[in-house]
Amino acid sequence: MSGSLHTWYSLPDLDLLAEKGATLSGEIELERLTRLKELLQSDTGAVEVSLKFERSGLGGVTTVALEYATTLRLTCQRCLEPMEHHAAATIKLGLLDGAALVPRTPAGYEPVVIEGDRISPAQLVEDELIVELPLVPKHAHREDCGSLVRELEDLEPKNPRVHAASRAR
Ligand SMILES: [Zn+2]
Repeated sequence: MSGSLHTWYSLPDLDLLAEKGATLSGEIELERLTRLKELLQSDTGAVEVSLKFERSGLGGVTTVALEYATTLRLTCQRCLEPMEHHAAATIKLGLLDGAALVPRTPAGYEPVVIEGDRISPAQLVEDELIVELPLVPKHAHREDCGSLVRELEDLEPKNPRVHAASRAR
């Protein structure tokens, strides 16, 4: 099985990856994450990811250690200008069969129920990035707000009074 971040895997495929202790890693372009990009100011850039599949001892649940790092461009809700948001985390997910009666994840793992029958690593990453987005993105410091507007103001002609006076003559 050739592993790819955009491949759609069924639960048995994922179990197989886990048995091999497979790791999938690489870059996913943000523009390919169609649900996430709706929420971004710009979809240029990529997210670096690594997914390490394992089989947990208890109950034999397939788990994945998902690591990602990216810089997203969001719109600041205070000044409506673009801002950068660094997102990086390592999370442990337990992949559960949506059809199972009593889905259980090992302690310390966040459950992900696989509805429909397939998931792709890119989809897992996209879900995490969407959940992680700040509800109301804002520049960290108030003085960072409105810097584009200030630059534009600096480009405008200085001393408008002189213009007014010369026009009056
Ligand atoms: Zn701002």
